[in-house]
Amino acid sequence: MGTLIWLVLLIGVPLALAYQRASLKTATVVLGALLLAYWLFGGGGPVWNAVLLVAFVLLALLNLEAFRRDALTRHLLGTYRRMLPSMSKTEQEALEAGNVWWDGELFSGMPDWNRLKNLPKPQLKPDEQAFLDGPTEELCKLLDDWQITHELADMPPNVWQYIKEQKFFAMIIPKEFGGLGFSPLANSMVLAKIASRNATAASTIGVPNSLGPAELLLHYGTDEQKQHWLPRLASGEEIPCFALTSPRVGSDATALVDTGVVCKVMHEGREILGIRLNWDKRYITLAPIATVVGLAFKLYDPEHLIGDVDDYGITAALVPTNLPGIEIGRRHFPINIPFQNGPTRGRDVLVPLDAIIGGTKMAGQGWRMLVQQLAVGRSIVLPSNALGGAQAAVYASGAYAKLRRQFNLPIGKFHGVGEALARMAGAVYTMMAASRVTCTAITNGEKPAVPSAILKYHNTELGRQVAADAMDVHGGKGIMLGPKNYLARSYESVPIAITVEGANILTRNLIIFGQGAIRCHPFVRAEMDAARNPDQEAGLVEFDRLLFKHLGYGLSNAARSLVMAVTLARFTEVPAVGPPRRYYQHINRYSASFALITDAAMFTLGGELKRRELLSARLGDILSYLYLASMVLKHYQDQGEPPEDLPLVEWSCRTLLYKTQEQFHGLLRNFPNRFVAALLRLCIFPRGRTYSAPSDELGQRIVELIINPTPTRERLASGAYTAVEPGNPLGLLQQAMELAEQVKPLERRVFDARRAGEIKADDIPGQIDEAEKKGVLTAAEAEAVRAFDRRVLDLTGVDDFDPSELRRQSA
Ligand SMILES: Cc1cc2nc3c(=O)[nH]c(=O)nc-3n(C[C@H](O)[C@H](O)[C@H](O)COP(=O)(O)OP(=O)(O)OC[C@H]3O[C@@H](n4cnc5c(N)ncnc54)[C@H](O)[C@@H]3O)c2cc1C
Repeated sequence: MGTLIWLVLLIGVPLALAYQRASLKTATVVLGALLLAYWLFGGGGPVWNAVLLVAFVLLALLNLEAFRRDALTRHLLGTYRRMLPSMSKTEQEALEAGNVWWDGELFSGMPDWNRLKNLPKPQLKPDEQAFLDGPTEELCKLLDDWQITHELADMPPNVWQYIKEQKFFAMIIPKEFGGLGFSPLANSMVLAKIASRNATAASTIGVPNSLGPAELLLHYGTDEQKQHWLPRLASGEEIPCFALTSPRVGSDATALVDTGVVCKVMHEGREILGIRLNWDKRYITLAPIATVVGLAFKLYDPEHLIGDVDDYGITAALVPTNLPGIEIGRRHFPINIPFQNGPTRGRDVLVPLDAIIGGTKMAGQGWRMLVQQLAVGRSIVLPSNALGGAQAAVYASGAYAKLRRQFNLPIGKFHGVGEALARMAGAVYTMMAASRVTCTAITNGEKPAVPSAILKYHNTELGRQVAADAMDVHGGKGIMLGPKNYLARSYESVPIAITVEGANILTRNLIIFGQGAIRCHPFVRAEMDAARNPDQEAGLVEFDRLLFKHLGYGLSNAARSLVMAVTLARFTEVPAVGPPRRYYQHINRYSASFALITDAAMFTLGGELKRRELLSARLGDILSYLYLASMVLKHYQDQGEPPEDLPLVEWSCRTLLYKTQEQFHGLLRNFPNRFVAALLRLCIFPRGRTYSAPSDELGQRIVELIINPTPTRERLASGAYTAVEPGNPLGLLQQAMELAEQVKPLERRVFDARRAGEIKADDIPGQIDEAEKKGVLTAAEAEAVRAFDRRVLDLTGVDDFDPSELRRQSA
């Protein structure tokens, strides 16, 4: 018995110290005391006692910093320096962009939930709310999807006018320059509302409010440039585009081949220094109508006119489109979503040197400028557009599934359809949580680069899934194009968001973890800096300090992962009560496992990890799912924790945590070092894979929330354009859904009478007539049922055309 107690203490105390992240000194003192007690009151055989003594002496020696530095760290640092992967200037710049926020907490293996909980609720300022309720609603009313996508292949002049007049292009431009000066949250909510109505307008408005001339001028422009360009951009007098991509250069934008050569040019009658530009760009949004191009090119100065450097690298300049040598105006046709997008070419175009954004001192700083702005911008425009489209799809599909009947039942009652509806609702809840909370964090000063990439990838991928599910739920109604189709264009638009601002395969495989690993890890970046310190002794002292903290952190993560896996995280402390508590606990558990496996992957693979894209992608998925689940919990808190929404919280968290578990499994199965993989599996899954995906019953509860007019359904679509008015299918479907509740008892009477043989007609209009004749319904009741039936037929109906209407060109 005594031996067993000592064994538990000898294993349990070190485990508890590691779990609690005790410092090396504290651990040494506590373990010393424990060993003393063991030798005094317990004690084992001489060999066992000697083993414990040696282990303790080694531990105690590690407290002597000067000794351990010379005996151990100096040698390790030499090896580390040789292994350190080289990093290009552009990679370095990408890593320096933005800051670390909740992503860093998840990397720590021990997230400080107060950091998330203390973030204020999403709150618009009064003028932002007024813009959302006023001009944004009005713009949505003006947008006619069929007219834009089919008849005009453009937005009509009155819509362009309204967009410019109301300064939709100037949401990010401060008021002092004539813009709206909106917060990222407001920017996101305006775009989501527009996207819930029309993808063309949302893409058009998204671009000037994202990475482009205004954003670059605001952060890097000279005062003169700001004063000149920003008021003109704000008023819509100037239309901007930003041109980076070219025929040979897509994802690898740093390889761009467009050039600018410093030369002497004549400007306004005198000779000044300028740049001779040559470019060939494609896919450029707003290019066909742009009056100014934000151009990315490589700057060369072979004659050393501005300094002694030949090749400055990527540079950004503002180029008016009316200069000689510029070819602009032709259009691409992006997947039936006809926003203005096209190629632009320039041949020997001459601009003064001060066309460089920020002036000559910013020559060669273009890539840094771009990645710094993308670090934030990626979490706003595309995720919001995806959210708005998905909100519209789930709102419409819920109502449609109630109104459309087959086999005498609303199709939403069939479990197969319900499965798709629940998946859509859960996805939209997750997307909304991610978008609202992250944009609020940015509004409060964060610049989270890794979460931005997470949002870009996952909101657009979830948007793709929602769009596909909505099409399935609608069957043929989603397929037949025409003014009555409110889904197909949104479905068609999905690959746009997937491709732009970092195509999704690249974002998942290379960016999320690839950037996250070094920048969010509590020690790796600092260790690399210490190893590269030209003052080798100072570097050694710093490296030693970090290394031993890092080792403690690794041990702690192993202990935490193991203990929480064995106990299913039941005892980990989290600041939550009630049903969501378990999700907080599971995030804590998987955060520790993630930190552990990250270290193991970096240690065993080093720079090779960058090339093992599928491992990096899975690590990125784990980080993303934990991030999204945290956003769901925070969003639920921000919404006042309405108990009716719990099924959505449960569905979203369960799905994300289940996927987390499966990605851990996939990672371990493919981990190259099989011995390390086995050790990791022991710490991460000592009881096997125990976490389950949402149950069917949970899915059915969600279906009832979205195929009926409930507050949860409204919250899920909050911010979408749901006004009840002719031409807005979302409002009309909702109205019909509410009407369905009113006529339900009348329909029931007709149904019962038919079953009793009182009514013989097979078709619905005939049944209503008979019911009226036989007194089953009064005349007014019969008219109400008739009107409802006509309305449903209209809403579920599709268009047909004379063949000549479909021909684009006469024969
Ligand atoms: C509608 C639309 C609007 C756009 N607007 C603009 C604009 O305004 N300004 C502008 O400059 N550009 C714009 N672009 C360009 C856009 O940014 C590029 O399309 C994008 O960078 C991808 O380049 P690509 O299309 O040439 O694909 P490619 O680079 O050829 O990529 C093809 C596939 O390979 C994958 N891939 C590439 N490298 C890797 C890797 N290392 N690891 C894993 N996967 C990889 C990509 O993810 C993608 O799936 C726009 C594009 C579109 C479609």
